[in-house]
Amino acid sequence: MTISKILIANRGEIALRVLRACKELGIATVAVHSTADADAMHVRLADESVCIGPPPSRDSYLNIHQIVAACEITGADAVHPGYGFLSENAKFADILDAHGITFIGPTAEHIRLMGDKITAKKTAVELGIPVVPGSAGEVLPENALEIAREIGFPVLIKATAGGGGRGMKVAKTEAELEEAVSTARSEALAAFGNDAVYMEKYLGKPRHIEVQVVGDGAGNAIHLGERDCSLQRRHQKVWEEANSPALNVEQRMKIGQICADAMKKMKYRGAGTIEFLYENGEFYFIEMNTRLQVEHPITEAITGIDLVHEQIRVASGAGLSVTQDEITFSGHAIECRINAEDPRTFVPSPGTITHFHAPGGLGVRVDSGAYAGYKIPPYYDSLIGKLIVHGRTRVECMMRLRRVLDEFVVDGIKTTLPLFQDLVANQDIANGDYDIHWLEDYLARTAP
Ligand code: ADP
Repeated sequence: MTISKILIANRGEIALRVLRACKELGIATVAVHSTADADAMHVRLADESVCIGPPPSRDSYLNIHQIVAACEITGADAVHPGYGFLSENAKFADILDAHGITFIGPTAEHIRLMGDKITAKKTAVELGIPVVPGSAGEVLPENALEIAREIGFPVLIKATAGGGGRGMKVAKTEAELEEAVSTARSEALAAFGNDAVYMEKYLGKPRHIEVQVVGDGAGNAIHLGERDCSLQRRHQKVWEEANSPALNVEQRMKIGQICADAMKKMKYRGAGTIEFLYENGEFYFIEMNTRLQVEHPITEAITGIDLVHEQIRVASGAGLSVTQDEITFSGHAIECRINAEDPRTFVPSPGTITHFHAPGGLGVRVDSGAYAGYKIPPYYDSLIGKLIVHGRTRVECMMRLRRVLDEFVVDGIKTTLPLFQDLVANQDIANGDYDIHWLEDYLARTAP
């Protein structure tokens, strides 16, 4: 089937990102927005726009009925969900399907399979993906100790419905276990309305390494290498790079192939990310995201492949534009997430941007809907833009990043830019020598 008009069910930089791909492919665009986003850049640049409700997300960007109505009013034949919001909502995919509207993403069945973490892990095992040692299924207060002894302390209790690092508790010893299980369960219930938890071996100093995959839904799938997202704060990624400084070519192609083969077996359709913790040369699957990710541009930078083009192609049944053999990895890319936040406390800093100057030059990409005079609404996440820098080598990439950060001006609000200026000058970062705890340790160590 052909796709001629796409409704972009998102906001901010990702709505703009998807819109750009649509324009390049000659596909008409419909923006949707809440009343708080009426003057957002994605609304200004779209061919048509529809206001879908008041500022709170549940009344607008998460309001399935309004979004379906917007498709019908405008005659959109497909929806791109971006990331967050409805991007991993299987019910949304089902409803669009029932209306004859193409969901640009995987099948509802695959979203469900990967959305529940216990099922996702079981599926990963069946598909030949290495996983973190842990419980076979749900952990209850009465069987927790037995399972933990089997796995060996320290253990991590995680919410089955988890996301954003919520409902996760470490138990270092037997004495800490009971409390960890009960706190994780009540946090999970509060955050996800589901108190089911499971248990994993707690890895001490892993890196977070994830593999980008794309499948055509008919049994063909490719991998586009990995991204290292170890620099995190409260399980939120802050700085990402491709390739990972920790892997060599053989390791990259080996884990990439395992993931691509798994996607072929599943007949996965669309873009996806298989996330691993990596320690002592071993990969341990933690979850799969069945959508485009925030950090996808670094993969685009080193492969030259537009992932949104691929998503639209496979959704329309046109298949992938490349085979695995045709993919080459060139140079190194780093992404910095520019958040409207205090660079030390990470307290959100909404307000009006009085001056905005994006950097430029060779190997520089800025994905942002921000502009001078733009008022950042307080209702949504604080990501206002992404800076992506590419170089032929990691050293060149870091040198370029240092120059580019000095050029970037965002006045009127606080942003995380000063943090990146510190990081780019840091010796551990220069050496690529960091794990998932490095950033929080660094912030604690250098706190004013
Ligand atoms: P969520 O969906 O809530 O983000 P993930 O399973 O993706 O949960 O884990 C988020 C982060 O939590 C990981 O990037 C890592 O920093 C940490 N983490 C998860 N599982 C483990 C584990 N078994 N050992 C150590 N850290 C872990």
